[in-house]
Amino acid sequence: MKTIIVTGGTGLVGSAIKQISCNFADKYNFVYLDSKTCNLLNYEDTLQYFIQQKPNFVIHLAANVGGLFKNMEHPVQMLEDNLMININVLKCAHEVKVEKLIACLSTCIFPDKVSYPIFEKDLHLGPPHFSNASYAYAKRILETHCNSYNSQYGDNFVCIVPTNIYGSHDNFNLQDAHVIPALIHKCHLAKQTNSKFIVSGSGSPLRQFIYSEDLANMIMWTINEYNEKSTIILSPDEKDEVTIEFVARKIAKEFNYEEFIEFDTTKADGQYKKSVSNQKFRHLNPNFEFTSFSDGIQKTISWFNQKYPNIRK
Ligand code: NAP
Ligand code: GDP
Repeated sequence: MKTIIVTGGTGLVGSAIKQISCNFADKYNFVYLDSKTCNLLNYEDTLQYFIQQKPNFVIHLAANVGGLFKNMEHPVQMLEDNLMININVLKCAHEVKVEKLIACLSTCIFPDKVSYPIFEKDLHLGPPHFSNASYAYAKRILETHCNSYNSQYGDNFVCIVPTNIYGSHDNFNLQDAHVIPALIHKCHLAKQTNSKFIVSGSGSPLRQFIYSEDLANMIMWTINEYNEKSTIILSPDEKDEVTIEFVARKIAKEFNYEEFIEFDTTKADGQYKKSVSNQKFRHLNPNFEFTSFSDGIQKTISWFNQKYPNIRK
């Protein structure tokens, strides 16, 4: 039996790994780490934890994460926390000689001015969008850091690049969350108080969304079957890109609250689009079936309704 440490084990993606982990119970012992178990900002704590757990694999998800508005309001923490967490985790994974580490980047770190669709090779070709530059540069350094360990010491540190993720166990904070959890929470409150459902920005930006359990399955595929060290984009197909307006209307429809949507165009839109190609993943795994956006949203809202108010918010 091999041990996998999942950093960020209580987060959106960590919880999805937990959800599907029963399919791998004969092969792996999963250990889920959050900030209460071990503060990854502290090198000594991290090293002690890694020595104690003796992991064969690490799925490194832990990060200071948030939506557009959190990135704009807390650029210092998005840079410092993420740089520090990543340096500590990579150093300790190297120290205890793990067989493989998966490090999580994001499609929002690609250059703002770039030709579409975006491919893995484009990551460092230009500055990221100004709204999340701090988070983006910390994540870009993570890729450089993985490549450095691989080339200097022969480690096996692999970067994955997911698109916008959504699902159960997300952070539903009204200010800091990503668009889907923020809008689900806002629509719920608007309906409760008979007020308008206010969506930030124009609604015109485009996004690709992946359901958290799909991503969890793709991460396990990366552990088990992806035998390269080069960065790989994990995204649904390009045709499934949608506007923020489409997302907001879908959420409102699920709450039966469609007539009450309003777009607050005084709020930021962020990057207009960051459309990526999943050609590399599709070539290696042509039959992977993604959860439809409609099913994923229904499952997420149903989870939210069952758990509210005991959710992260
Ligand atoms: P999340 O729900 O915000 O969860 C973050 C996790 O990191 C939590 O388990 C948290 O534990 C842990 N963590 C934060 N600071 C820590 C610390 N100092 N020490 C130990 N643990 C710490 O994040 P997520 O959405 O699952 O994101 C997972 C990964 O995907 C991240 O690397 C993120 O950058 C990437 N990503 C996310 C998205 C998205 O749309 N969500 C899109 C692309 C890429 P506590 O709860 O104890 O703080
Ligand atoms: P991004 O994909 O990295 O930009 O992050 P988000 O998940 O925060 O999505 C931001 C997009 O959703 C922008 O176009 C925002 O204007 C739009 N949006 C609309 N309402 C909200 C909201 O309540 N919260 C967030 N985070 N974004 C919103």
